[in-house]
Amino acid sequence: MKKSQSKTHNILSIRAIIDDAKCFQTVRELRWPDGVCCPHCDSRSVVKYGRDETQPERQRYHSRSCDRYLDDLTERFSKGIISH
Ligand SMILES: [Zn+2]
Repeated sequence: MKKSQSKTHNILSIRAIIDDAKCFQTVRELRWPDGVCCPHCDSRSVVKYGRDETQPERQRYHSRSCDRYLDDLTERFSKGIISH
């Protein structure tokens, strides 16, 4: 993957980025220990699709199966769990 960002960061923002990276990495490991799975259709045909504009460590994905986009924090659809 190409890195085209040439922004300079001060110490504080580097720290914040490292912490974010750790945070999102932990989220990914807990959530998808065997690889990314689409929360919309449960498919494993998920490819990486860039990063969040405001949170560079937040990986975005594209599900080839249902043609939807997701990221590290996209919630699963709660089908049939809530019934009134
Ligand atoms: Zn999907």
